[in-house]
Amino acid sequence: MPKSMKDNRAVRMLREAEEGGYGIIGVVSYNLETITAVVRAAEKKRSPAQILLFPWALHYSPLLIHLAIAAVRTATVPIVLHMDHAQSEDEIIAASDYDFDSIMVDMSHYEKEENLEKTERITKMLHGKGIATEAEPGRINGGEDGVKDTGDLEGLLTTGEEAARFVSTGIDFLAPAFGNVHGNYGGIENIRLEYDRLTSIREACKGKAQMVLHGTNTFPDETTQKCIKGGMTRINVNDLVLSKYNEYVKENTGKVPLTELMGKGTDLIQELCEYQMDVMGSSGKGEVRY
Ligand SMILES: [Zn+2]
Repeated sequence: MPKSMKDNRAVRMLREAEEGGYGIIGVVSYNLETITAVVRAAEKKRSPAQILLFPWALHYSPLLIHLAIAAVRTATVPIVLHMDHAQSEDEIIAASDYDFDSIMVDMSHYEKEENLEKTERITKMLHGKGIATEAEPGRINGGEDGVKDTGDLEGLLTTGEEAARFVSTGIDFLAPAFGNVHGNYGGIENIRLEYDRLTSIREACKGKAQMVLHGTNTFPDETTQKCIKGGMTRINVNDLVLSKYNEYVKENTGKVPLTELMGKGTDLIQELCEYQMDVMGSSGKGEVRY
């Protein structure tokens, strides 16, 4: 049955989070271990959650996408599937053939007018397929594993005015740049977020789109919570839940059987996902079915 925007689960999940004042974890997932850990943590905490794949998955193997779809369908709490940072039209069209609930139309490597034009056109196409969209006005600095390096393009902070223009294209979610960066901050002292800017962006989004947070590596809990208070609904996490796993795999590859490496690795991701669900206040919010 074709999907329709009226029933879009990602929109419903983030609207409920906004109304309830809590955040939804969006876990950047590269493998089976991560996807398994997200489902286990969400079911244990009775929390909604989102699995995030990069377009890299399309090129690596569609089997990873099918795995994530199976996880979404079989979970006993609401979990949705999001394609993050889709940076080309071809990738977006390819992704839209799968059961994604939302796709980030990341045209932030284009100049503003072109970003707007492409965002509006592609949003119409995706809405026709019942898939919600996310856009990035301005440009979040830095890169992460799986997102094409945009070279030396300068980061650009989002203004309230720009946010309003992007929201008017019909997008569902907005990823603002307000001092947040992709990759590593190089020390907690370098995390400098402009909350006043966030407030003006929130005004522009009110009642029309939900805000989503990118660039949370090494965020202290209070920072995450302050962003949620500031209106963030989905909180993308990479290092915050993968740091222990990455370290463990680095230390133990070749030293323990692969089954142990995978099993223990999954446990380490699950542990941090559960912790973050408590920090974000989503624990116990997963009983609503949609
Ligand atoms: Zn991002």
